[in-house]
Amino acid sequence: MTSVSEADIAHLFHPYTNLARHPETGPMVITHGEGVRVFDEAGKDYIEGLAGLWCTALGWGEERLVAAAAEQMRKLPFYHLFTAKTHEPATRLAEQLAGLAPVADAKVLFACSGSESNDTAIKLIWYRNNALGKPDKKKIIARERAYHGVTIATASLTGLPVNQRGFDLPIDRILHTGNPHYWRCGQAGETEEQFASRRAEELEQLILAEGPDTVAAFFAEPVMGAGGVIVPPATYFAKIQAVLKKYDVLLVADEVITGFGRTGQMFGSQTFGLQPDLMTVAKGLSSGYLPISALIVAGHVYEPIKAQAGEIGSFGHGFTYGGHPVSAAVALETLKIYAERDILGHVGRIGPVLQRGLRALQQHPLVGEARGIGLIGAVELVADKDRRTAFDPKLAIGARVVAKAQAHGVILRAMGDAIAFAPPLIISEADIDEMLGRFRLALDEAHGELAA
Ligand code: PLP
Repeated sequence: MTSVSEADIAHLFHPYTNLARHPETGPMVITHGEGVRVFDEAGKDYIEGLAGLWCTALGWGEERLVAAAAEQMRKLPFYHLFTAKTHEPATRLAEQLAGLAPVADAKVLFACSGSESNDTAIKLIWYRNNALGKPDKKKIIARERAYHGVTIATASLTGLPVNQRGFDLPIDRILHTGNPHYWRCGQAGETEEQFASRRAEELEQLILAEGPDTVAAFFAEPVMGAGGVIVPPATYFAKIQAVLKKYDVLLVADEVITGFGRTGQMFGSQTFGLQPDLMTVAKGLSSGYLPISALIVAGHVYEPIKAQAGEIGSFGHGFTYGGHPVSAAVALETLKIYAERDILGHVGRIGPVLQRGLRALQQHPLVGEARGIGLIGAVELVADKDRRTAFDPKLAIGARVVAKAQAHGVILRAMGDAIAFAPPLIISEADIDEMLGRFRLALDEAHGELAA
């Protein structure tokens, strides 16, 4: 029999991987996990500094989630929600999400991934505007460096070149405006407040240039994740929302990363004062244990859709596995654990430990900015701290530091030269210290090599 690595190299088509180099670098085979740690084939342990892909909020080995899945598997392993069929897990989960989310008179439509829920949001917005007799109001604005998924429409929303180059994207009707990264995009002498105003003015100019009657919605992650963990200035969303209201443009909050406590409150929308018309959640909804996502829609968005579906005879959208009973049962148990263990309270206590640790790294010669909120953060590496000069991308310094950190037993993710931290929400102070200590060794080594 071939080894896992050999079989992988022969047959597995990897996402987000330099496929040309894969045969030499080979895969990293993860065998199991426990708490905030995962283990490779050789038994070496790693602190998972990104909770897998920002999702494993309760860490690995949470037996209650295993038990919830097993129980539901035995009872009803599959049923769908088409043609008004339902089951208790999906219904109870919809009820809970509608109660938790800051979305008025909410209805909840399930899918299996963040991409699917964001893609569905676009479809619903188009469907609604047709129903309202506004067939030209279809353009969607997202931000440079946003990450909203990889379907044809959501990869178009995503504002990162790697998701569009070679794929003939973005599609029509999708536009981009500047992101709220003050440290990188603020102009000389501009305050954070002025920068936020400028971003709102740019958005208004874009809407006016396109024609307000053609712009339907604005998508935003409360904290941009894969774009490099970009925390907006305090007044940014108030200014942006004033523009959206003025031109009747819906706000979609993509809470796929920020949902369920990551920023210290249940949703990033609450931390940053967003009042979304639609909201998408995934990842932390089931602590990543099973695929499930949801689109939470305000009543005023839902009502015209209902009327249109009535005329057509059916609402023509849905995924076979949307609201899967086993995933929904696990999500319900996840929400129960968040409440019982006061995970929000824990993030409130432990988030500042991570943030202080990251800010302390700002003294390091390679670190230009350390940023974050709650249990999400990043350090951005620069060639020249005073001038904030980025490294030559060919050096791939972010990826090199991440590889060194991995050798020291901490798994992180480089977004260009910004290195992201989003550990499981259950992480302890001691594990944060260990994670940052291991990371500092990697930084020192990279610095030594660059200086040599
Ligand atoms: N939205 C955000 C903010 C994300 O970070 C991601 C994935 O990382 C997605 C959407 C897409 O989710 P999925 O990979 O489940 O399709």
